[in-house]
Amino acid sequence: MRNPIQNYLESLADHGHYAVGKVASYIPELAAADPDRFALCIATVDGHLYTVGDGQFPYSIQSISKPFTYALALQDQGPAAVAQKIDVEPSGDAFNEISLDPGTKRPSNPMINAGAITAASLVAGKDRQERFERVQQWFSDFAGRQLTFDQQMYESELSAAHRNRAIAHMLREFEVLESDPEDFLDQYIRQCAMTVTTQDLARMAATLANGGVQPSTGERVAEPSVVEHVLSVMTSCGMYDTAGDWITSVGVPAKSGVSGGIIGVLPGQLGLAVFSPRLDAHGHSARGVAVFEHISEEMELHLMQVT
Ligand code: GLU
Repeated sequence: MRNPIQNYLESLADHGHYAVGKVASYIPELAAADPDRFALCIATVDGHLYTVGDGQFPYSIQSISKPFTYALALQDQGPAAVAQKIDVEPSGDAFNEISLDPGTKRPSNPMINAGAITAASLVAGKDRQERFERVQQWFSDFAGRQLTFDQQMYESELSAAHRNRAIAHMLREFEVLESDPEDFLDQYIRQCAMTVTTQDLARMAATLANGGVQPSTGERVAEPSVVEHVLSVMTSCGMYDTAGDWITSVGVPAKSGVSGGIIGVLPGQLGLAVFSPRLDAHGHSARGVAVFEHISEEMELHLMQVT
């Protein structure tokens, strides 16, 4: 007999032509993405993977890298040192806002670019290469397999990184970054160009759901206190200026990326990932948001449900 969850997920993949939104164009390489790709994967904390659509299609992780790099910064430096540099307040701004919190002169949170570039600077390592190698290994440990880096995507984003360069230099001016901002900009753009599949993203989310232990390899990747902290910030800030809407309608900690992925984490149970490159006005996958709303209701995933 076919598994009912698999049947249900396949019914969601089969929604005919879904053409809401537009692929990201400010990174030249992303503008070339096939808008009709679709994948939906669920990885459970006991190591089971449900996958429909293009689950093994590779693309760049983009901002879904942010919670994972933040986790590594927390594990390397401890929460107090990280908090001196990055706040945990929703900013209500877009992901690429060029501003610091007016009171604290820190980035409001690690999910917007200013906070993510700062988190990259807090990864331990003697230079940007060593820090990036640690990030690459850390993401791979979450996924349970060795992940690679897309040189072409990195060069493409670097060639058009005017806004992120402005953010990095602003962070240096306010001494949030303590040395050459170009190093941290480069490291951040590299982390965004790590290649993943939707299956990888579901497994990375499942490692968070499993308190930091990768469900397939059994390896403890992150400490439980780090995971708790990261999931809290994903809940309040992961969906940028629609975080409030998301937590009300979907009700799970999440993170989106401009290449079209969204991950969601149901603590103690599963990680969910959706991929569809057409984006809404906030930079989230339009179909991804619709699918998450649907699944949350049908599978009763909302963390605040009381009935
Ligand atoms: N690399 C992208 C940027 O920094 C990531 C943005 C995103 O995925 O939201 O602009």
